[in-house]
Amino acid sequence: MRIEVIEPHGFCAGVERALKMAEAALSDNPPPVYCLHEIVHNESVVQELASKGMRFVETVEEVPEAATVLISAHGTSPMIRTKAAERRLHVIDATCPFVAAAHAKIQENFAQGLRTVVVGTPDHAEVRGYLGEPGACLPEDVKPGEKTGRVVQTTLDAGSYEGVCTATRDRQRAVREFVAAQRCMASSVGVLVVGSGKSANTRRLVEIAEQSGAKAWRVGSSAEIASLDFSNIGVIGVTSGASTPESALRTVVASLWVERGTCNLGRFSV
Ligand code: SF4
Repeated sequence: MRIEVIEPHGFCAGVERALKMAEAALSDNPPPVYCLHEIVHNESVVQELASKGMRFVETVEEVPEAATVLISAHGTSPMIRTKAAERRLHVIDATCPFVAAAHAKIQENFAQGLRTVVVGTPDHAEVRGYLGEPGACLPEDVKPGEKTGRVVQTTLDAGSYEGVCTATRDRQRAVREFVAAQRCMASSVGVLVVGSGKSANTRRLVEIAEQSGAKAWRVGSSAEIASLDFSNIGVIGVTSGASTPESALRTVVASLWVERGTCNLGRFSV
């Protein structure tokens, strides 16, 4: 089985920025530093920050008055920001600029008298943040004939929705092109996506690989490889979600190499 690493993969600019801000917050402030929700959906990243003194909470009420709180890359709603101000919290805002731009779009639409439909998973932190903006609504709340604006969760399928962020779009396109290129060569193609099951963009990469005609799996770590059935797979592409550290992908590739016999380590990029 030949192994190819699909490029680009792994951390996007928004996640890298949020993690740098988290590290800086930890070095500039006495512990604990609070973070509203998981900074990114990856257990090892969260555990490492927790070991350095970051405390993850689900509500601002859990943060002591005047303490430091980081807002994750997924952003948050205006109501939460108001509550943070009322509690005199020192807010470090790591909202990804793509997400911040979508919030600004909803506010702009509202100022022009338009509601904005939010397309995405309603219980995802990013979508909850959008829905907290004045004038934001779910698709099912739109009245017949109502003219509305629209924003989409940044990690949806870029093939079906405009407004998906560039990082998500590039990672999805690389998987599609990898599968298409390998199928042209009549190989039986597999795609292994490294990342957490909680990560929407990781799960989406698995769906896209399957829709493209590959057999696809998600693994959280190299320990999960042993249980996978790679029989008949001629080539396997390895990629990772936008919240997955590079070290996790490298460990998976190394384990595949050791456990699955002959392979070449190639690279495939768009
Ligand atoms: Fe930002 Fe896109 Fe990364 Fe989400 S996936 S943090 S929107 S760059």
